[in-house]
Amino acid sequence: MDTNLPVAAQPRVVIVGGGFGGLRLAQELADAPVQVVMVDRNNYHNFQPLLYQVATGALEADSIAYPVRKIFAGQKNFFFRLADVRGVRPADNAIETNLGDIHYDYLVLATGSLTNFFGIESIEKNAMQIKSIPNALNLRSFIFQNFEQALLENDPEKKQALLNIVVVGGGPTGVEISGSLAEMRKRVLPGDYPELDLGKMQIFLVEAGPALLGPMSKKSQQDAEGYLKELGVKVLTNTSIKGLENGRAYYSDTEYIPTENLIWAAGVNGTALPGIPAAAVTRNKRVTVNRWNQVEGEANIFAIGDLANMVTEDAPKGLPMLAPVAQQQADLLAKNIERLLKGEKPEEFNYFDKGVMAIVSRNRAVVDMPNGWHFKGFLGWLSWLFIHLILLVGFRNRIVALVTWAFSYFSSGQALRLIIRPFNKRDVKDSTGKKAAEHAAATLEYNATPSAVQRPATVG
Ligand SMILES: Cc1cc2nc3c(=O)[nH]c(=O)nc-3n(C[C@H](O)[C@H](O)[C@H](O)COP(=O)(O)OP(=O)(O)OC[C@H]3O[C@@H](n4cnc5c(N)ncnc54)[C@H](O)[C@@H]3O)c2cc1C
Repeated sequence: MDTNLPVAAQPRVVIVGGGFGGLRLAQELADAPVQVVMVDRNNYHNFQPLLYQVATGALEADSIAYPVRKIFAGQKNFFFRLADVRGVRPADNAIETNLGDIHYDYLVLATGSLTNFFGIESIEKNAMQIKSIPNALNLRSFIFQNFEQALLENDPEKKQALLNIVVVGGGPTGVEISGSLAEMRKRVLPGDYPELDLGKMQIFLVEAGPALLGPMSKKSQQDAEGYLKELGVKVLTNTSIKGLENGRAYYSDTEYIPTENLIWAAGVNGTALPGIPAAAVTRNKRVTVNRWNQVEGEANIFAIGDLANMVTEDAPKGLPMLAPVAQQQADLLAKNIERLLKGEKPEEFNYFDKGVMAIVSRNRAVVDMPNGWHFKGFLGWLSWLFIHLILLVGFRNRIVALVTWAFSYFSSGQALRLIIRPFNKRDVKDSTGKKAAEHAAATLEYNATPSAVQRPATVG
């Protein structure tokens, strides 16, 4: 019964997801009179803002992940189950998992988001995504496998397709990954692949909207585009990739970019679980919550972070999908759960925006502060490094990241270009462990502007 969890004398708070929101909530409930049960399909917390560095060989996967059990060692009211949550049964106060049912007094859904392919099947089948650590490792292997393949290819178009990289989505992830790939082309590949004519390798950053970094200031948008152009990235705005087949990324019925390497960073969907009342689930699978994160129509079910669609005066279309939103909502929800236990009224959430930033490459980043102040270049880059270093979970991870960054800075290049587990597209599984095609039914139709759902990066 209930996956052998101890029968609790205190109310049980079940948290689904150990990402930014779930982790913070469980930590904030350490001294609350509740039993905390976290359920996640991974036994580690994944620091998503640095996934692109794993994908481009700048950091090891281990340095951006941290074991959940280690984080909570010593927290007496905390229990963890490694399980895939498949649905919610509000009438029974239970969640369904692959291990069996788990009952709750309060349920907090913090399951984050998934890549949104906008219903374009050929892209879902053939593109690479960057939402999880396996995704990032696959991407790293795939790019290097294709360079190896390019050495053997004699057909000029096929060779070009193996060398070209197309990044779709001009939000911070797209900007960061194209900048990092351009650095790799400049500093790493000439030494590793002297037989390849790297002058022919092209990196494209394709954005459906009129500008990169949609939610940032005009200055940041222009500076980031300028930096990318300096690095030789071809920036295509007002352009939508409509399909990817036989090594061709089509941006109209007949026009295409030859590429085997297409990285889809154009948008995300929520991850609403079956059983959540349909009235609360939005078109892009987020879950509508009130100002204390309670799911519409459910007294004891809450959603936080990327999953939660919370409308405020400042965010009439819903708060952005950002780590600080998830963490701040978790902070307040921990206090509100205690208030509810005492029969008090919960407090309303207000997002405190600390600013947004995006890194382009070494010595180049753009930062917008909430007071309208904008800075860039070396100072922006240093701020980005410092903030990401202190936000990384675990002392070891901070040290490893710092040493790895310092080493690549002074040795001029990403060090980690091993193909440890060769990537085969036919085996592709997404972060949920499902084959890509199984997700086709769950993704949105291509009826929204991709850039409308891109996230801005944040300062902290
Ligand atoms: C490449 C990339 C770069 C980013 N960069 C930034 C940045 O610079 N700044 C910023 O503020 N934000 C950034 N973000 C966004 C940020 O990572 C998210 O806003 C944040 O992770 C949301 O936190 P969350 O707790 O809602 O979900 P997540 O952190 O995504 O955690 C969700 C957790 O739920 C688990 N889970 C999901 N479904 C199930 C299930 N059915 N059963 C069991 N477990 C489940 C997952 O395994 C995961 O551990 C970035 C995101 C990506 C992908």
